Amino acid sequence: MRIGFIGLGAMGFPMARHLAKEHEVVVWNRTRAKAERHSREHGTKLAGDIQDCADAEVIITMLPTSREVDEVIDRMAPALRKGTLLIDATSGDPNVSRETAARLAAVGVDFVDAPVTGAIVGAENATLTIMIGGAPDAFERAKDVLRLCGKTIIHVGELGAGHAIKALTNTIMGATVWITSECMLIAKKYGIDMKTALAVTNAGSGRSNASENLLPMRLVEGKWPLVFKLALHDKDIRIASSIAHEQHASTPMLALTSQLFTAALHELGDEADYIEVAKIVARMNGTEWN
Ligand code: NDP
Repeated sequence: MRIGFIGLGAMGFPMARHLAKEHEVVVWNRTRAKAERHSREHGTKLAGDIQDCADAEVIITMLPTSREVDEVIDRMAPALRKGTLLIDATSGDPNVSRETAARLAAVGVDFVDAPVTGAIVGAENATLTIMIGGAPDAFERAKDVLRLCGKTIIHVGELGAGHAIKALTNTIMGATVWITSECMLIAKKYGIDMKTALAVTNAGSGRSNASENLLPMRLVEGKWPLVFKLALHDKDIRIASSIAHEQHASTPMLALTSQLFTAALHELGDEADYIEVAKIVARMNGTEWN
């Protein structure tokens, strides 16, 4: 099958590599050098122009937000073919996606939202969890392609449902990272060794992905790698906030989490990693971690 793949960032680059094992994959990236490298290293076809990706049975987008997805769809529009399936793997906005899907349906192109979870390591190892919103037949088509990138592929519901649950689950993670950082800081101030504080947390009911996998490297070893941009995490929490607002839901924890992440983003900048919010927790207390 011919697949057009758009967006060879931290997640898209390895995903496109897995797809190339069984399919003819045409790659396009805003920074062309990355697409050239992909083509050279993984035998994918380098798109001369983004429209070269449009003429495919399946198009996959893996971009920062729904805004960039709409931009690339606009650029491909003249070359889109009836019967193509567009799989948007971006962690996008369900409302924007429903409008995009309606626009595409008018020219006979199907759309599913298919955001992923599992981080860069999941993309590298093809062990992602992929949550899909869309019609059942479009889901089956998407699943047949995405099984090369993920281990667990779930049909969440109608169009937009994938994007909605992705934003909500990332919000849970954000709140957990923040509260765990606060409690670890208090433990530190209390004189408890950080390794011990985390070990106790991980042996008890405060355990989470944050305490087990994300914070030990940063708080104990002092390593702060960039794996997921805080700007993207802030975007996910803002999407969750807007969904809550639409539902007229009372969600004070969500509102606070959103405010804290946006403040941290303004403080740390666009290139910060999301776990660096722990640095803000420390600064709010006039201290540093390491
Ligand atoms: P990156 O920042 O690593 O990559 C973003 C990609 O989008 C790059 O290919 C970039 O091109 C391209 N891009 C940016 N702006 C534009 C534009 N205006 N027009 C066209 N292309 C553009 O992001 P990630 O791969 O980390 O994230 C992608 C999506 O996956 C996001 O929605 C994110 O929330 C989600 N996600 C990320 C995870 C992670 O751990 N990193 C985990 C799960 C989901 P260029 O190379 O030119 O910059």
